[in-house]
Amino acid sequence: MKLKQVKIILITCIFVVTCLGTSVALFKTPRVVLFKVVNTWPISMVINKFQSYSFPVNDKECLVELKRLNAKFRVQSSFKEGNGCRVENAVRLAKAGMLNIDNAPLLTCSMATQLVKFERDSLQPIAKRYFGSEVKRLKHIGSYNCRSMRQYKGVLSQHAFANALDVSGFEFEDGQSISVQKDWKGGGSKSQFLREVSSAACDTFRVSVSPDGDANHWNHLHWDTGPYISCR
Ligand SMILES: [Zn+2]
Repeated sequence: MKLKQVKIILITCIFVVTCLGTSVALFKTPRVVLFKVVNTWPISMVINKFQSYSFPVNDKECLVELKRLNAKFRVQSSFKEGNGCRVENAVRLAKAGMLNIDNAPLLTCSMATQLVKFERDSLQPIAKRYFGSEVKRLKHIGSYNCRSMRQYKGVLSQHAFANALDVSGFEFEDGQSISVQKDWKGGGSKSQFLREVSSAACDTFRVSVSPDGDANHWNHLHWDTGPYISCR
């Protein structure tokens, strides 16, 4: 990135943060104000620019790392769509360790790498501890999707960069199935398993949102490796 671009991003970021801070301090309902401020045109445009520059270009080191891990994937060529959606350094990840991933979703290399590490370091150990069985299949309801965030209409979602995955359930070696939609609530071992997996995902991904996070996530766990940090 050129120095001029860095300066422009820094100045606009300071401007955005100052605007948001002032608005939140002035009003009693900061969350509502935050939605309104972020959704206004120049702010959302600046955030989209910031997001698009936050992805590494030609991230060959990531592919080298992914090849070293226990994963089955195909490298995908880069492409852009209107509205700023852009996919670079992406793969189609079919398998992470012994975990088969439905429909080999399109994911940025960094997201795929984190998912493979998560399977190895968190998902399988938690599964063995709860059920004495390993997870063999991950079900999801999408990765790449050229769209905005649901609460911030003008701001592109991490799905618009193939940098997010919406996990809807798991299937185990012993035949047992766990669904976020059916099993998140209830308090039994399936619910506890999902809650522990979601919590562990906060340490591996930058964003991990569960059905407790907000109403939009009632049937899935959202994980992404975007520029923000959120665990809810
Ligand atoms: Zn999502």
